[in-house]
Formats: sequence, C-alpha cells, structure tokens
Amino acid sequence: MDNPIEEYLQLVTLVREHVVEQLEFGLSEIEIKESEPQTKLADVDLATLDADAKSCTKCGLHEGRTNVVFGVGNPNAELMFVGEAPGADEDLQGEPFVGRAGKLLTKIIEDGMKLKRDDVYIANVLKCRPPGNRNPVPDEVETCSPYLIRQIELIKPKVMVALGSFAAKTLLNTTTNISALRGQLHPFTLSDNFEKPPRVMPTYHPAYLLRNPNAKRDVWEDIKIVLEYLSTD
Ligand code: SF4
Repeated sequence: MDNPIEEYLQLVTLVREHVVEQLEFGLSEIEIKESEPQTKLADVDLATLDADAKSCTKCGLHEGRTNVVFGVGNPNAELMFVGEAPGADEDLQGEPFVGRAGKLLTKIIEDGMKLKRDDVYIANVLKCRPPGNRNPVPDEVETCSPYLIRQIELIKPKVMVALGSFAAKTLLNTTTNISALRGQLHPFTLSDNFEKPPRVMPTYHPAYLLRNPNAKRDVWEDIKIVLEYLSTD
C-alpha cells in the first residue's frame, strides 16, 4: 500500500476489530505488552564487550573456565575466523587457536594466505571452554552467541571463515552438514546491522585436518575462494 493515511486507517480498523472481538469473549482489560528491551550488548564497543564477556556468568561454562577467550586480532579486519570453543590451551592462555590446531591455522593464514595472524580477527562461538572439550549444547550457544554477533557487527569483516561444522551451522543458522556447505560463500543473516552483509565460507576445522590431512586440499580450495573475494571491491 503506497498511501500512508490509508495504511494508518486500515491499522486502526484492525485494532478496533481486535478489541471488539476480545470484548465479545468477555475480556474487560487489554494487556499491552511492552516491547522487549534491546539487549545492552547492542550499543557497546569492542572493549566493553570484551570486559563484559570476561565477567560473564550467564551460562554454566563460567564455573570450569580458567580464562574467558574473547577473541584476538585486528578489530578492523576484513577477514575473521570463527571456531567452536576454546580448548585446554586456549582456556589456559585466554587466546583462541593457540594449541596444535591453532598452529595449523596460523600456518594457513601466514604461509597459505600470505597474511599476518595479527591482520585478521580470530574468535569462537563460545567464549568459555566446555568441560573435557565436549560439544557445546544449544542453551550455551543461545546464551553466548550475542557476544559473537556483536563482535561481528563491530569488526564488520568482509568475509568470515567458519572453522568446522559447529561454527558453520551457528553462523549460517542451519543444520546442513559442513561437507554440503563448504566450497561456496554464504551471506551472514544473523544481524541486519550491515550495509553489506559479510560472507561466510564454511570449511573444515584445523583439528579435523590434523586427523585427516587429505582434507587440506578442500580447505585450500575454500581459502582460494576467500582470497579471491577479498581482492574484489
Ligand atoms: S560461554 Fe559465553 S555465556 Fe557462557 S559464561 Fe562464558 S561468556 Fe558467558
């Protein structure tokens, strides 16, 4: 409808019909719900978000953590890597991807992509280590993902590499398997806060590559697509 007055009048008519209907059903009071308050994370900068996460006790994972692993790298990075959750080394050092899998990721970034680790931004979906490196549970992801989403909004990467099935499914809000997702860029749709939504490249997790070196070829194919996209305007 192009005419705003007509649109308004139609809205008033709909509200009136709804009220009449409610009264016919014997309701004498109409409950007016206030809209949900915006999450306070929506307005914070990266340093405040980091500090907030470091004192977070919103899910049970805070009980077993040594450190909150928020993320590292260039806050204006065009390229961001997102993994699943901190492991033992990351929990101890408070930095993502510093164990064996992390060293392989650094190799991919520095030897393969010819970038510096400091040029990119690296984070995980979960900021605290699940005990015994178990898989995150849906409640934990739901509680923690506002940190990641705000992080992405603030960094505004051009492209994100989702490392492993868990990160890919979370960033793309899908249950599709990583083998079907990888090999192409997907739009990031979990936030409207972008002029141009970042692209997501799902690929295998470096820890998977340590167990399955043959998959390195696929990862390299994915990385080449990312490099090509980064070189475009
Ligand atoms: S995992 Fe996330 S939501 Fe849970 S305590 Fe850590 S920072 Fe908070």
